[in-house]
Amino acid sequence: MKLIFEKGVPDRVGAKLPKSDVPVSSKIPEKYVRKEDAQLPEVSELEAMRHYTELSRRNFGVDTNFYPLGSCTMKYNPKIDEEVSRYQGFVELHPLLPQLRHGGMLTQGALQVIYNTERLLSEIAGMAEFTMQPLAGAHGELTGTMIIAAYHKDKGNKKTKIIVPDSSHGTNPASAAICGYSIVSVPSNSDGVIDYDEFLKVLDNEVAAVMLTCPNTLGLFEPQIKKIAQKLHEVDGLMYCDGANMNAILGKVRPGDIGFDLMHINLHKTFATPHGGGGPGAGPVGVVEKLKKYLPISLVVKRNDGTYALEYDRPSSIGFIAPFYGNFGVILKAYCYILMLGKEGLIRVSENAVLNANYIKEKLKNYYQIAYDKTCMHECVFSGSRQIKNGVHTVDIAKRLIDYGFHPPTIYFPLIVKEAIMIEPTETETKEALDEFISAMIKISEEAQTQPELVKNSPTTTPVSRLDEVSAAKDMDLCYKL
Ligand SMILES: *Cc1c(COP(=O)(O)O)cnc(C)c1O
Repeated sequence: MKLIFEKGVPDRVGAKLPKSDVPVSSKIPEKYVRKEDAQLPEVSELEAMRHYTELSRRNFGVDTNFYPLGSCTMKYNPKIDEEVSRYQGFVELHPLLPQLRHGGMLTQGALQVIYNTERLLSEIAGMAEFTMQPLAGAHGELTGTMIIAAYHKDKGNKKTKIIVPDSSHGTNPASAAICGYSIVSVPSNSDGVIDYDEFLKVLDNEVAAVMLTCPNTLGLFEPQIKKIAQKLHEVDGLMYCDGANMNAILGKVRPGDIGFDLMHINLHKTFATPHGGGGPGAGPVGVVEKLKKYLPISLVVKRNDGTYALEYDRPSSIGFIAPFYGNFGVILKAYCYILMLGKEGLIRVSENAVLNANYIKEKLKNYYQIAYDKTCMHECVFSGSRQIKNGVHTVDIAKRLIDYGFHPPTIYFPLIVKEAIMIEPTETETKEALDEFISAMIKISEEAQTQPELVKNSPTTTPVSRLDEVSAAKDMDLCYKL
């Protein structure tokens, strides 16, 4: 098993990142490499300002409209988080400040924020300790899988496989595969949860870990986690919790209490950072006591004299997974958010997120096929299968929602639901906003019967009707023309 980054104490500029001697330009096909200087426009400040203001108005976000993107928890980010994250003392910190390594005056506050957030997450998740370094959920999964590999290597276990349910987020098998494990997929049963008997069939001594999303990506709680953990622990396997859906269980369930050994949390989902389009993010990884020594470096520690410091001297650590705390702003927002809400507030977050999802599920289930008709957690999954008879597909329903002013829900995920429509309203929306969305969805289901062509040719209100998404992503010539 090869670890991604080399281990060792960093030099002054940070981690030992792998070096590539291939210049970036040589990876770009010759015909696309610029031969002369770009023709940059000469504009006044006012013109530049109008240009960017115009662009910002074209933006679609939670601050402007309902954004029920399932699995992404696109909740409103209270503006106090933004305000605190812009405090000068934080914004002007430079990662190369020598004090950062030795806990000096300028950096004590930031280190304390990282330390305190780590402590709060450990309490919320029931874990012994978190690393605050991973820069996204998927990065957290990779970190977790590296920890799993380090644990088994240490114990001399011969482990080759990681089990994931077929409803899992694509990053789960991807992270496991990058660490060199083969993936064993277990089907979900008719209740939308992992099939326990099928799990038992594939469990053997070579299983390094099971990665379960809690609650799962169908918005359902897996009722057999304790049983699965017990069986897995008998072969010294580790239970990994994909905690991207923590928004449903804050203050209700602690993954560490029900058998999970390690997990990641998406701060940018559960703990309110505006995200989408690739960042910024933070995917801290929490572990139980026996895995603490493998956590990546550095860790923020509190010394006996009450000061804080970055600790690098950890011989069993998996090493570096990020050179600096470039995600500090996200951690700070999460800290502010948790302190602002407190324990009672966090519990209400989950209760309202679950209530809102169930409200939508009940109101829409006569119009759209519900994937699993039972109480859901913070998101509900429909199928557009009833609408297909008129030639209307889920993608058409999603595009039509744009005409009504809504961001489409997640579609065609989870993969195991045909024509999936996955709606996550979050706790931050009012009943009025939910009702508007529900009535748009009902209207579209009627349109699918009476005017299917209209739905198929939507959106009609945007400058470009439909992008050819495949070509846009894959056809270089088209990209450059755009
Ligand atoms: C979002 C998500 C991830 C990946 O998190 P990123 O921060 O986007 O890398 C993993 N699993 C689930 C279930 C998710 O919803």
